[in-house]
Amino acid sequence: MEVVTATQREVTAEQARNVAEAARETEWHKPSFGKQLFLGKLRMDLIDPWPEPSSDEDSRRFMESLRDYVTNHVDGAQIERDAKIPDEVFRGLAELGCFGMKIDTKYGGLGLSNLDYCKALTLAGSTNPSIGALLSAHQSIGVPQPLKLFGTDEQKQKYLPRLAAGEVSAFLLTEPDVGSDPARMSVTATPVEGGYRLNGVKLWATNGSVATLLVVMALVPRSEGHRGGITAFVVEGTANGVTIERRNAFLGLRGLENSVTRFHDVFVATDQVIGKEGQGLKIALTTLNTGRLSLPAMCVSAAKWCLNVGRGWSNHRVQWGRKVGEHEAVSTKLAFIAATTYGMESMLDLSCMLADDDRNDIRIEAALVKLFGSEKAWLVADELVQVRGGRGYETADSLAARGEKPLGAEQLLRDLRINRIFEGSTEIMHLLIAREAVDQHLSVAGDIIDPKAPPARKAKAMLRAAGFYARWLPTLLVGPGTFGGYRKFGRLAQHLRYAERAARRLARHTFRGMATWQGKMEYRQAFLGRVVDIGAELFAVAAVCSRAKASGKAEEMELADLFCRQSRQRVIVLEHALWHNTDAEDVALAKDVLSGRHEFLEQGIVAPPEEGEWVATWKPGPSTEPNLMRKLS
Ligand SMILES: Cc1cc2nc3c(=O)[nH]c(=O)nc-3n(C[C@H](O)[C@H](O)[C@H](O)COP(=O)(O)OP(=O)(O)OC[C@H]3O[C@@H](n4cnc5c(N)ncnc54)[C@H](O)[C@@H]3O)c2cc1C
Repeated sequence: MEVVTATQREVTAEQARNVAEAARETEWHKPSFGKQLFLGKLRMDLIDPWPEPSSDEDSRRFMESLRDYVTNHVDGAQIERDAKIPDEVFRGLAELGCFGMKIDTKYGGLGLSNLDYCKALTLAGSTNPSIGALLSAHQSIGVPQPLKLFGTDEQKQKYLPRLAAGEVSAFLLTEPDVGSDPARMSVTATPVEGGYRLNGVKLWATNGSVATLLVVMALVPRSEGHRGGITAFVVEGTANGVTIERRNAFLGLRGLENSVTRFHDVFVATDQVIGKEGQGLKIALTTLNTGRLSLPAMCVSAAKWCLNVGRGWSNHRVQWGRKVGEHEAVSTKLAFIAATTYGMESMLDLSCMLADDDRNDIRIEAALVKLFGSEKAWLVADELVQVRGGRGYETADSLAARGEKPLGAEQLLRDLRINRIFEGSTEIMHLLIAREAVDQHLSVAGDIIDPKAPPARKAKAMLRAAGFYARWLPTLLVGPGTFGGYRKFGRLAQHLRYAERAARRLARHTFRGMATWQGKMEYRQAFLGRVVDIGAELFAVAAVCSRAKASGKAEEMELADLFCRQSRQRVIVLEHALWHNTDAEDVALAKDVLSGRHEFLEQGIVAPPEEGEWVATWKPGPSTEPNLMRKLS
């Protein structure tokens, strides 16, 4: 029997890039704060005044019931202990309508706004982050969202009521050999009479071991009548030939029902294709435009928890004659936790409300919040562990056994870590956002730096670029930040002036980078990462200023002011590092590390065992494993 291995599906960097590029949404029909920001324009008019939430009485009632249910019926510690969300919690959440939060009311869902949905995730996830991950994977990337955006009426009628009633869904893209690079996909959907046959193995599907409806990404081979390409299918989790071969276990999120799923000759009918053949990745990316907001909702949840525990503990614990919270070294951590929580929540709420009122394109903002939220929540939780001292490292059960509050800061740290990896790792988010940040430059000057472009196209591009840059570059010289603008923001005006000037500088740095490295700019990942991180900070500054001004509350103005001061310090460091860094030396040393030149440094330890493969290979064919599908009662 043929063994499919990583090396058998070699894909060049260019092919991988082409697949990603083909999936990119290229159209911009609505204004985008993020896009303008990277062009040097701080468009406060797009985010100020702070939008009005659209919650109605029904959603308020739902939030109350959810609060009541998760407070009284979800035992987060038990989920951690048993590594399992109990059946009755699935049932309780289903009865409340939690599996239909994002599904239209006409299909039996609650039809919540993005804002209410994220608030619900923040609330439910605070009992145990596995609950948040379950609900968010189900509706942000699972079947409901792609069907809402790309499904036919028949598909919506057939599947959405089942999901709204509590059936669980999952999203299956990753494979042993497909992580960040979908071009290597090897799960196939071969056209047959009336549909397709699915074959292959998918890895790490969240909810995979309980889901009865799956979104599966599979490669349709090109053939007569089939344009082929990566295609999205709705597949029944209990269909013949679907086997849950493993339930995976992780550093954190112990309650996650995450699977290795094998497909062997699974028949899917033509009407189970979502969208069109070859559109799979585009559907996945478009789904994530707003789907990405759910992950930072979990990060906000974690940050609020850290703030609560950090405050309580630092007020109570006395060492060296003072509350620990009054020692400057701890005060600065508490201030970071509080200000960052405010920053993250402001970015998230703003992005949700911009998505809800549908006037703006929020794809860059959502990506920035995911990036910023996942990175900063990790730091926040790490600081909480430090503030809690030894108790930060102790498990909740162990604390409780000694008669102390069962506050598992270590669990939170473990549960949070994955947010920097899934739904686009930080490195991939940097590239994805950077691609949008340089899009205008590529569209006017791309042909100049394209080695394959013929001379006539290059000449045309030269003219186009000359026209664009003659108009655009002067706009980067002065702006409201130069002339004492933003006065209506009171004490926060100085921060917006800073952000406006920094946005213009950022655009100039980006232009300089393009001019210096041209077509090789894409390889300057460290530079691009910093450009994006600066963009995220500036978006955060703009969001907190808009929110605090709207609140009119002194305590919010204080939090916003401090957040902006801390953020500006980070921007200064990032901006300096754009041109003063060790990137070239790092790359050279990494090459040497890869070649084994520094192997001597690994001596003096017991080396890790050699057995096992780096990436598991799998054999096509029927499963030889018991089906570990967990049937929910
Ligand atoms: C708990 C958990 C739940 C998950 N849930 C799901 C799910 O529901 N559905 C699903 O389909 N998948 C899921 N995944 C998979 C997850 O999305 C992937 O782990 C993620 O996409 C990264 O892929 P990878 O782990 O193969 O890393 P790799 O792609 O192998 O990357 C390894 C490292 O290289 C970096 N890297 C890769 N390519 C580049 C590049 N071009 N430039 C710079 N750096 C790069 C990465 O950022 C990373 O640091 C889950 C994973 C886990 C652990």
